[in-house]
Amino acid sequence: MQNNYEINIIHLYPDLLNLYGDRGNIACMEKRLEWRGIKANVRTCTNKDHSIDLSGADIIFVGGGSDREQEIVCNLLLKKKDELIKHVESDGVLVAVCGGYQLLGKYYKTANTKIEGLGILDIYTDSGDTRLISNVVLECGRFKMPIVGFENHAGRTYLGEGVTPLGRVLFGNGNTGDSGYEGVLYKNVIATYLHGPLLPKNPQLCDYILERALKRKYPDFEGLEPLDDGIEILANDYIADKYAGVTQIKRRA
Ligand code: GLN
Repeated sequence: MQNNYEINIIHLYPDLLNLYGDRGNIACMEKRLEWRGIKANVRTCTNKDHSIDLSGADIIFVGGGSDREQEIVCNLLLKKKDELIKHVESDGVLVAVCGGYQLLGKYYKTANTKIEGLGILDIYTDSGDTRLISNVVLECGRFKMPIVGFENHAGRTYLGEGVTPLGRVLFGNGNTGDSGYEGVLYKNVIATYLHGPLLPKNPQLCDYILERALKRKYPDFEGLEPLDDGIEILANDYIADKYAGVTQIKRRA
């Protein structure tokens, strides 16, 4: 048990950006910390709060949603832009999904409006005529296991030169539908179009996120104790095999 540690997670605007139950990712982080005896303090900021308190944040999470809700959140977060940039530039962990991902960039341009982004990442998003909806399988150099998930977005996100994608698309559309890449990894920012149960389906990614936060907070932290992820690995493998024909597990005929 690793009970000498604790992590502060801030969940931004689940009342506005929570498409496909993005909030389940918070439960997943909490549970995987708890299984190791590590305390998770979750603070939720909603539209009812007069101001948001980012103090002590180790991990900040923002989900996705409709253009309308995205614009509301963007305007609220612009007030916290400097603090968010400070968090990211000091290696704080920030996990952003879909609409949340887009608003980290310079802007998100739809057919009717241009939403100014937070400018945390050197990316921009233009909305296309069709929605990119698909299961997704990614190859990510950091992990043996592929990252699997589900995407549904009109936006096409273009990455600046210094920005690294999260993964290479083996199945699905990813950032633009034709770039061959999905998401962004920048310092300890993990931004992706993959909605809903991203972390339950990808325990390797969840532990990566938790470890980045723990190592930043506790320089002597040596690594998370392993968990029995047999069931999670089987679920991940089923999707990776079904859609992209990649499997790490030899199943019995
Ligand atoms: N509104 C954005 C788009 O359609 C984000 C959608 C989402 O979060 N699923 O591209």
